[in-house]
Amino acid sequence: MDTLSAKIVKTRKVHTCWGCRKTIPLGTPTMTVTTADGGMISTVRWCCLCDKVWEKHWRDIDPFGDCDFPFGFIADEYPDYLSEAAKEQK
Ligand SMILES: [Zn+2]
Repeated sequence: MDTLSAKIVKTRKVHTCWGCRKTIPLGTPTMTVTTADGGMISTVRWCCLCDKVWEKHWRDIDPFGDCDFPFGFIADEYPDYLSEAAKEQK
């Protein structure tokens, strides 16, 4: 899988966070990652908390760097990281 772009974009629609399935409200600056995989282009969005979790723990989460994650995996597998990021944000 190739990453075509990864940047913070203000949402123009309501989206769902790929990491934790939370709703990302309109107009929120959101990490938006576009990837190409065998001719398929897909875009996933991460809320600011999942982005923080990723920044801090990517070595644990993705030791092989293949970026192939099931929908909602941060909420399912790393709830502690999420609550830690939420605390730090306050
Ligand atoms: Zn999230």
